Amino acid sequence: MKLQSVRGMNDVLEPQIFLWQAIESRIHDLYRQFGYVEIRTPIVEPTALFKRGVGEETDVVEKEMYTFEDRNGESLSLRPEGTAAVVRSMIEHNYLRENPVSKFYYIAPMFRHERPQKGRYRQFHQYGVELLGSPDASSDAEVIALHSLLYTDLGLKGVELRLSSIGCNDCRPAYRTLLSGLLEKELANLPEDFHKKIHTNPQRVFDLKNEGAKVVASKLPKVLDHLCENCRVHLNGLKNRLKDLGVPFELDPSIVRGLDYYNRTAFEFTSSHLGAQSAAGGGGRYDSLFENIGGKATPAVGYAGGMERLIMLLEDSNPAKRPRPIVYFVGVDEAGLQRCEPLCFELDAKACIARSSMRRNPSKLS
Ligand code: AMP
Repeated sequence: MKLQSVRGMNDVLEPQIFLWQAIESRIHDLYRQFGYVEIRTPIVEPTALFKRGVGEETDVVEKEMYTFEDRNGESLSLRPEGTAAVVRSMIEHNYLRENPVSKFYYIAPMFRHERPQKGRYRQFHQYGVELLGSPDASSDAEVIALHSLLYTDLGLKGVELRLSSIGCNDCRPAYRTLLSGLLEKELANLPEDFHKKIHTNPQRVFDLKNEGAKVVASKLPKVLDHLCENCRVHLNGLKNRLKDLGVPFELDPSIVRGLDYYNRTAFEFTSSHLGAQSAAGGGGRYDSLFENIGGKATPAVGYAGGMERLIMLLEDSNPAKRPRPIVYFVGVDEAGLQRCEPLCFELDAKACIARSSMRRNPSKLS
């Protein structure tokens, strides 16, 4: 049997790795500049964390997780996203008691058993931040503006910010009931696997790709017209703050995030250059997640973007494909080659890439 990498999981080779490293380094710098501290959590977590955190009704948990029993019979899963694990870690270490407002970031591999296509993989990498402990709209604005700055700074073209509010525990139940009632009358126009979501998560109708469903969705009442006073004030505060910071956005009430923990602010950066998988990244507020996984109520907001999609957007334009000059020595014979080797070592130490070979084999270097 020929051994190959697992479908949807890719090697990153030269020269692409240089671009990965350059972008990762820029992301590390920018996040640190804004006071975010790196956090590294395990790749594997108890399955229950994602069931309770991300939500049992979500596609990610229902259909896409890599779940297995370890040798002790415990159900574990490869993490499909980063936020639930960061929150689990905060609760476990009681971290926010000493640091009531904390800012973390990560750049890490995630795993989802999706159908692979351009921009969609089974192992992919996310860069992201979590701003914990602040209920203020200015924190949402900071997380958004930070990524707008990142994309501008990297020279990304055609990136747009789409913003919405998906309500809170006070106003969302009534809106959902309203949607469920209307959707019940449209069963014939909705895909069968969505029928059971009509009562559990009717807002997902706005995310359906099927043409009939899109027509149904376009006629439904919009969430922005059904927000409670507190959600409206929060959204207006965020819009004003973004205007102050000079971050352009478009209100888009059709945004529904694929993970259940979001409330109020929901946003996405999209790019027309990405094709069908147009989201460069997405985020929002998740004020109930701490409680859902056994912690004290803690307001929070976060964002995660896809590294592979960033690489796709930058691949053609970024000149930093090779980080260092290359010097290539060719020895005319064995003795000559021996003289080259210490020279290579010396140049390597001075941050060049130096290589040597005999004249017979000089072709390897591109
Ligand atoms: P999500 O956690 O679903 O909000 O995803 C945040 C971002 O991660 C998306 O906007 C994508 O850029 C990226 N992403 C999510 N799933 C995948 C995937 N299967 N392959 C590549 N990138 C992904």
